[in-house]
Parts: sequence; C-alpha cells; structure tokens
Amino acid sequence: MEIMHRPHVALLSSPGLGHLIPTIELGKLLVLRHGFKVTILAITSQTSEAESRILKSAISSINFCDFLELPPADLSGLLENEAAIVERLCVVMRETKGAVRSVLSNMAHPPSVLIVDIFGSECLSIAEEFRMLKYVYVASNAWFFSLTLYSPILDKQVQGQFVDQKEPFEIPGCSPLRPEDVVDPMLDRNTRQYQEYIGIGMGVRKGDGILVNTWEELQRKDLESLRDENLLGGLLKVPVYAIGPLVREPEPPSSSTIGLLGWLDQQPSESVVYVSFGSGGTLSHEQTIEVAWGLELSRLRFMWVVRPPNRGRADSAFFSTGDGSREDDDPSNYLPEGFKERTRKMGRLIPQWAAQASILRHPSVGGFMSHCGWSSSLESITNGVPMVCWPLYAEQRMNATLLAEELRVGVRPKVLPAKKVVGREEIASMLREIMEGKPNPIRERARELRESAAKAMERDGLSRTALDHVANLCCARAAECETHEHQSVLTSPSVSHVSSNLLSQRTQR
Ligand code: UDP
Repeated sequence: MEIMHRPHVALLSSPGLGHLIPTIELGKLLVLRHGFKVTILAITSQTSEAESRILKSAISSINFCDFLELPPADLSGLLENEAAIVERLCVVMRETKGAVRSVLSNMAHPPSVLIVDIFGSECLSIAEEFRMLKYVYVASNAWFFSLTLYSPILDKQVQGQFVDQKEPFEIPGCSPLRPEDVVDPMLDRNTRQYQEYIGIGMGVRKGDGILVNTWEELQRKDLESLRDENLLGGLLKVPVYAIGPLVREPEPPSSSTIGLLGWLDQQPSESVVYVSFGSGGTLSHEQTIEVAWGLELSRLRFMWVVRPPNRGRADSAFFSTGDGSREDDDPSNYLPEGFKERTRKMGRLIPQWAAQASILRHPSVGGFMSHCGWSSSLESITNGVPMVCWPLYAEQRMNATLLAEELRVGVRPKVLPAKKVVGREEIASMLREIMEGKPNPIRERARELRESAAKAMERDGLSRTALDHVANLCCARAAECETHEHQSVLTSPSVSHVSSNLLSQRTQR
C-alpha cells in the first residue's frame, strides 16, 4: 500500500493485560505493516506488577511506537475497595479523560486517529473535538460484542435478574445466550457495574467503526448480524472489521523461561498440559486441591501457573498479578501434601506468571486448561492446542460456551466452576479427553482453526484486507488533517504560534 500521508494513530488501552496486550499488537501491525506513527496512551495507575513489566519491556525492547504514560487519575472517593472490575475500569477511564485531552492537545503533531478499547468509549467524544477518526477496538470476540451492543435492549425486555430467567436470551442473528453465561456485570442488575455495562453498550455506537479481534470464518453469523441493518447492524450503524487473530509473539527468553523451555524440550511431542487461569484468575483452596489431584490422577505431564487460593473472588489477582511476594506464595502451603515431590518428574509449577506465548507455541504442549480469556483462547487456537475450558469471570463463560459447544476446540466441566467445586475425577477425565486418542477430534478441530486463522492473516486474507481498508481510511483522514493544518498555517498571523494555535482551532470546530 502506498502511503501518501503517514497517519499518526493514538491507541488508548484500559488497565488489564487482556486489554493492553492486544492493543500493543495492533500498534505493532499499524507501524510494521502500514508504516504509521503510533502513540500508545498508557494508563499505569491501577495496573498490576506483571502489567507494568510487560509495558516496560514493550517500551524498552520495541522501538515501534511511542508510549505516553498518562498521569494517574484521582480516584479518591469514587471507588470502594471492593469495587467490581468493570466498575473500576469505567471509573478509571472516565477520570482519565482530562489527561487524554491534555496529552493530545500538547502533541506537536497531533494524531488524526484515536482507537480505544470498549472501556474507553467515553473518550470518543474527545476524538470528535479534535476532528479525529475514531474506532473502538474489541479485544474480545464478536458474540461478546453483540451482547454488549444489545444489552440496553435486553435491559428493557427482561424483568427481574438475568440469571433467574428460564429461557436463553435471543440476540438477533447470533447464538442464544444461556442465563448462567451472562457477563459478570449482568449477574446482578442492582449494581453500579451493571449500569456501567449498559452505558458501554450505548457508548460503542459512537465510533466511526468497530475493530474486532476475530476473523470472518470463526464468527461468520455474529459478524453478519452486526452488519445487517435488519439485525444488530440496525443498532450499530457503523462498519465492523474483523482484523484478528492478533496474538502476542513470544518474548525473548529470560533466565527463568530458559529452564522451563529446556524442560519442555525433553518431553514428547504434544504430551504436556499447560494450566493457567490468565492474568487475574485464582481458584478457591478446595478447587486448587482438586486441580492438583486431577493432574496427578491423569498421569499426564503438566506445567501449572500456580497462585495462592482466593478468599472469595475468582478475579482477585486482576489488579495485582505478580505484586510482591506473599507469605503464602510457596505452593507447598496450599497444594496437597507431597504433591510437589510426587510429581517432580511429571510437572513444573510456575509461581504467579509464565511466558505463556512461548509455552503454548512449544511442540511438547498438547493441551491448555484455561480460564478462557479471549487472548489466551486465541493463543491456544493459533497454536492448534485444544482446551479444557474453565471460565472464571468477565465474559469467560460466554467464551467457554463458544469454544466448547460452537467451535468444538475444547471440553468443559458439566457444572460451571463458579457454582460447584469440580472434582478430581472429572478434571482427570477432561484432561484425558483432550490429550488422548489418535486422531483426537478436538485436537483435529483446533488444528483446522489454526489453519483458518493463518489464512485470515495471509496477504490476501480477509482480516488483513479488513485492516488494510481501515488503514486507507486513516491515510485519507491524515491527508485531510494535513491540508487543514496547512491552510491554518497560511492564515495564521504568526507562524511561530502555529502549534499552540492548532489545538484551539481544532477544538473550536
Ligand atoms: N499471560 C501470560 N502469562 C500468564 C498469564 C497470562 O503471559 O501467566 C498473558 C496471556 O498470554 C494473555 C494475557 O496474559 O496474552 C491474558 O489475557 P486474556 O484475555 O487471556 O485474559 P485475562 O486474564 O486478561 O482476562
């Protein structure tokens, strides 16, 4: 693609690795493939230690884009300690709005495009002030986005709590949603995070387009509905671009990773189960014990990212993954007695955080017991690795249903882990189901989707063409802005005041 005007794109990610990592990946593509200038506006308050590390390593190791750290928002009096994740994210993003405006206005060469994730949709109004092109980037899948968009309608249609309904919810053109699979904010409509979520459903419509981290072949019907004006497209009214799967490349191995990868090198092909519950997931003490016994009973090799059990909330590590060391950090304190010794040859325990992208890519890894965060799910699919789907929070119950029942790349417990402790025998049996048998239908399906994903990202693939199209629109907007700025310069009384005037001229329009 020939670039006449090199667009400058600002990307705004809300806190949380599931949001930050896909944003960084999108930034990389815009720079490396399209030659754009990209500035990532990074929110570093409310972030976990692991997130700060990823951010810092991205800043120092890749020169592909600029990072601008936004000043921390003053949240005093706005959030209770126990505030739910969606509420917290929405409040942080709202309170950061002023900082975003001020950062954009002080740039010598202001961006002509703003891309926000779904929690940043309130900042779309700033893009309007600055006459920028504006997109919402959905770092999750199209079915989840459809629910979010449709949630204000469900809010009017459904009486009482969603989880108490007997029938699945119809979302036009998409698979129906079981009441127990609703996203976290819909679990209790009498909460502030529910109101915030409905607000997001309205807010996302204000973009000039929606970018989704999925691909056409994976979610055809949801994408068609979002484009069909007789279905969800009638609500959305802006184009939807499936640009995925955007997944993280493995980082250069660190001293701790080298040992783990070395161990994997010695294991037979596709023989190891990788167990991880994402950037923020934790299990109860009872469930942690059952997972340990399930692994032992299965007699499979494993690599398990272990965290101390939670005392109530499955998302308890979301804002604190990898933070400092705690007295109960030693896995022997919460795993069954003798587990570590008995499984020494079969498995590896990794405290808190692992180099997941490198592990899932390793040929010895043959299965993933996962919390079904969307980035993790894509990392599994793009490596052809089948899953034991173990949803914990956020939209993970929807993802698990999509992965296990619609896409058939995984199995899941009979009863949701949030409702009942999953026993060791069931765990061992699910692990065997994805790991054993040749050919194994679930593994075959994961391989099929790996190929489908690769095809979407090829030069003529649909995801690549979709992003090319967006890139062309960005170029056109950059050209418009340049012309406009040029005219402003010509009419400006003093050229030396151009850059400070530029903002106020843009703001007034
Ligand atoms: N991740 C990782 N190591 C870990 C846990 C998570 O590298 O020990 C990465 C994982 O590869 C993925 C992201 O963190 O890219 C988690 O995003 P996801 O959407 O799966 O879920 P989240 O846990 O953020 O809800």
